Amino acid sequence: MSAVPSLKMNNGLEIPQLGFGVFLVPPEETQQAVSEAIKAGYRLIDTAQGYRNEEGVGEAIAESDVPLDELFITTKLTNSEHGYDNALRAFEGSTKKLGIDVLDLFLIHWPLPMFDQYVETWRAFEKLLADGRVRSIGVSNFEIPHLQRLMAETDVTPAVNQVELHPQFPQDDLREFHAEHGILTESWGPLGQGKGLLENPNIVEIARRKGRTPAQVVLRWHIQLGCVVIPKSVNPDRIRENIDVFDFELDDADMADISKVRTGQRLGADPNVFAMR
Ligand code: NAD
Repeated sequence: MSAVPSLKMNNGLEIPQLGFGVFLVPPEETQQAVSEAIKAGYRLIDTAQGYRNEEGVGEAIAESDVPLDELFITTKLTNSEHGYDNALRAFEGSTKKLGIDVLDLFLIHWPLPMFDQYVETWRAFEKLLADGRVRSIGVSNFEIPHLQRLMAETDVTPAVNQVELHPQFPQDDLREFHAEHGILTESWGPLGQGKGLLENPNIVEIARRKGRTPAQVVLRWHIQLGCVVIPKSVNPDRIRENIDVFDFELDDADMADISKVRTGQRLGADPNVFAMR
């Protein structure tokens, strides 16, 4: 199995291009799943305060033979903790649960534009960066106007925007905006969240043609678009299958065929209206 390549962020640091997501992994199963992923070669682990499984990630980090400086840990500020002081306090809670002093990447989980706090929250992120508590800061579920406002009113351009992205919802405009501004695109729900993408006849046919699984074809599509991708599974065979995507390529015809499954429909919430805290 070939190693996961890295991409360079706008601050000069590197991020593994494929990582392991733990959304909806029950807290009591998280340590085992993350340990399995690290054994399989994953180095980027993507959790969030809202997933309530940061402790399990911390346990897996602590018991791993892989040194912490070879891992890349991401967590996200939960929606109820927007605001300068809240964000700083919530960050400390995360580092305690994860058992680390310095976090690799901290993301604002959702912009919640209706509460108009994300600029203030970002200033706390900039302080954490300046204090050396976090190596990179980014956002999640930000739309172009939210990014434009952040860049106009603050000093640090987000390193990453983690958004829903898969062949049915490929986010062309947002990816183009990111490329223009040096922001990496990180795909969440990359496999379509088990809601039918991997059974789509186009995807199944391309997988047959390539001698790979539908999940591998879709993950390879993300890699070739230049996205960071963080598939989730708790099944050890699938965990290994999902990282085994660096020894084949999709050609232009394959990429075009995959584009045909586009629906333009999100599977998750619309960041402009999502207000849950
Ligand atoms: P995903 O697209 O990774 O789908 C996961 C599901 O796909 C699994 O539960 C399983 O049912 C299926 N699956 C996984 N591997 C498979 C395989 N090889 N073959 C067949 N089926 C397979 O969805 P996700 O978990 O929602 O997204 C990935 C990660 O992105 C999350 O775990 C989380 O870390 C992150 N995420 C972030 C946000 C956000 O708002 N920032 C939202 C959702 C997810």
